[in-house]
Amino acid sequence: MDAAELARPELVERLLLLTAVDAPSGEPAALGPAADAFAHELAELGGEVQRHERDGITHLSTRLGPDGDKHVLVLCHYDTVWPAGTAAQRPGRLVDGRLSGPGTFDMRGGIVAALTALRLVDTLPAPVQVLLTGDEETGSASSEDLIVEMARSASLVLVTEPPLPGGALKTARKGWASYTIAVEGRAAHAGLDPDSGVSAIDELMDVLRDVNALRAPELGTTVNIGSVRGGTRTNVVAADASAEFELRATTVAEQARTEEALNSLRARRDGARLALTRNHGRPPMERTPAVASAARRAQELAALLGLQLDEGAAGGTSDANLIAPLGIPVLDGLGPDGGGAHALDEHVLVDSLVQRTALIALLLAAQ
Ligand SMILES: [Zn+2]
Repeated sequence: MDAAELARPELVERLLLLTAVDAPSGEPAALGPAADAFAHELAELGGEVQRHERDGITHLSTRLGPDGDKHVLVLCHYDTVWPAGTAAQRPGRLVDGRLSGPGTFDMRGGIVAALTALRLVDTLPAPVQVLLTGDEETGSASSEDLIVEMARSASLVLVTEPPLPGGALKTARKGWASYTIAVEGRAAHAGLDPDSGVSAIDELMDVLRDVNALRAPELGTTVNIGSVRGGTRTNVVAADASAEFELRATTVAEQARTEEALNSLRARRDGARLALTRNHGRPPMERTPAVASAARRAQELAALLGLQLDEGAAGGTSDANLIAPLGIPVLDGLGPDGGGAHALDEHVLVDSLVQRTALIALLLAAQ
């Protein structure tokens, strides 16, 4: 902890510096300056920096420490939910031990803690692979393969996402999937010839009732129909209609049940056609034995620093959702405590930034 305490001014300075760089998720053209800034940060660790270009987005990696097959993967994302220009409008600032600004909590604070921890460990006992992705906030479509590939040969994955309030690790997360359902019917004059029409809207209403029936609150399974559209005017039987919805589930089994049910949806009306598209998703992160034992180890190490480290479940997803189902030990929520994720009062607590740096350094040194 002493070394991390000594690094406090450096931690603050580096986080303020990086908070000044916009990285709007989902806008590849605007991510370039952030990719360069984070590539520079990685290069300072002394290894070679690789730039992985996927769908116009740059993901960054570097490998440190000794040679070996099994590495520790430090997994972070440098993109934020904030549009270009936010950093200039709301620059990072430090008031009473709170460092606030866009992206500080999710997850620049976690990146700064991890990179500083890597500097604090004199000799890494095991190889470390660091991966900074640029599309987590929009679902990791372009980085998913890279994440899974690097996680498969990892002995442990450290994800420096924000923790639960109070600093608890996230050892379970819901899975998530988003869908579009499109219905094709047949247009007709609603007054002159209603029977020759097939209403896509009526069909969609019935289908959405089936979709909503997949909810299972006692198991944590939720459904949200986020948008509905269709038809043209009141005197025309609607020829088309569509809806977008998402589904969240706590267990792999529940996600499979809902997916199977969605795939077996059929149109009730002759002449109506359904087309279901799964847009994107992440599997649930269950508290597997590998996750539970990694959390226990982290708690033991935190105790050496005089810290109590709790754990809990989160409703949102992260890239840890891609890793836990593979049976690989993954610790999520290792970033500093704070608040206001995706909100105007986003901030991290500098005391926690120091503590997390010390904890991550211990985790790296204890491999
Ligand atoms: Zn995040």
